[in-house]
Amino acid sequence: MVSIEEAQRVILSNSPLLLSETVPLLQGLGRVIAEDVHAPWDIPTTDNSAMDGYAFSSTSSGREQWVIAGFIPAGSELVTSVATGEAVKIMTGAPIPSGCDTVVPFEEVELTAIGIRLVSKVKPGAHIRKQGEDVRANDLVVKAGSLLRPQEIGLLVSLGRTEVTVYQKVRVAILATGDELLGVGTTPSSGRIINSNSYSLAAQVLEAGGEPIMIGIAADSKESTMGKIVEGLAADILITTGGVSVGDCDFVKESIQKLGGTLLFWKVRMKPGKPVAFALLESKPIFALPGNPVATMVAFEMFVRPSLLKMMGHSRIFRPVVRATLGEEMRNNGDRPHLVRVGVTLQHGVYRATNTGNQSSANLASLTRSNGLLMLDSNTTIVSESTADITLLDRDFEMGSISNVVA
Ligand code: AMP
Ligand code: MG
Repeated sequence: MVSIEEAQRVILSNSPLLLSETVPLLQGLGRVIAEDVHAPWDIPTTDNSAMDGYAFSSTSSGREQWVIAGFIPAGSELVTSVATGEAVKIMTGAPIPSGCDTVVPFEEVELTAIGIRLVSKVKPGAHIRKQGEDVRANDLVVKAGSLLRPQEIGLLVSLGRTEVTVYQKVRVAILATGDELLGVGTTPSSGRIINSNSYSLAAQVLEAGGEPIMIGIAADSKESTMGKIVEGLAADILITTGGVSVGDCDFVKESIQKLGGTLLFWKVRMKPGKPVAFALLESKPIFALPGNPVATMVAFEMFVRPSLLKMMGHSRIFRPVVRATLGEEMRNNGDRPHLVRVGVTLQHGVYRATNTGNQSSANLASLTRSNGLLMLDSNTTIVSESTADITLLDRDFEMGSISNVVA
């Protein structure tokens, strides 16, 4: 039996970076860029107006009035230069014509019979966005390894890009095991249950940015399990669920070994999620997760998710951890750390966590009431109203409610 940290170390040192691929820009959203992007040109490409107003030369600012010598809407260019004593009407984003170095907004001028007069003092150089003030040609604007968010997509487009090279999405084969399992959409009869794990795991893979490939259900036999594992090797990694304990019908470990795979560990000191094995078969990582619905999802959180993120080029691979005040006493009399399902709220800037009920590894309903996991060490009690670290599974609860704005 290994500790959670040892298991993570073994897994992460066997989670190779995937290859990169070039995709249309929008498909890069949420993925990690695999190339350094240098700017091919300045942004802005020329000095331009930050306001709708009038452009003129500040060397003529001792003067009373300016004659309007032209109009420059955004997108057009005035070829002739502007003489001293003249101003041009200019729209936001339009290039500053030669002879001008200052823009005064409409609100700060008065129209006169011959042109305009300033109503207040204007600083030389005001309201001009200078060429290259955002980005200079050859600047490194997006570094390899960065996460692409909407703002990176926009900046890349402004630099002429239509495609981007990112790390591939990890393709994850998901194999359920067990003669008791029924397909999705069926009604369970006595003794049978619906294969929910394939779906919860597929959802976790999707949420991590990977591509799940559900390869169905292996029967409780070595032959069936081996055949399905081989099928799963077509993906980048394989996750199995169930059949990895010490029961008479647990064939996953044996099947991996029979196929020539190497088990790097089996069983992790944690609850739920102890019966986890990690193996390499034909150099593909295989995560053999427990069958119990919460155990499989918690094991995915602890072990598979960080591995997938690392393979897809992410450097931040662990969920955020916050310090929360506990709403009740939490006790662990067992000899394994307990990952307690908790509900976290934020009240006046303070995180509060409470137990979400039945902590059985089969009880998926209590996980739906949770958004965090509290790591409660073995033989430990944390008293009510003291604080503990909570791993947040989502941060939805921190978002503002619609009722803040409309009734
Ligand atoms: P096992 O480790 O295969 O004995 O499975 C442990 C428990 O998890 C049993 O009660 C199984 O019925 C349940 N289980 C196993 N696989 C799944 C699955 N794919 N979906 C839902 N429950 C499962
Ligand atoms: Mg089973």
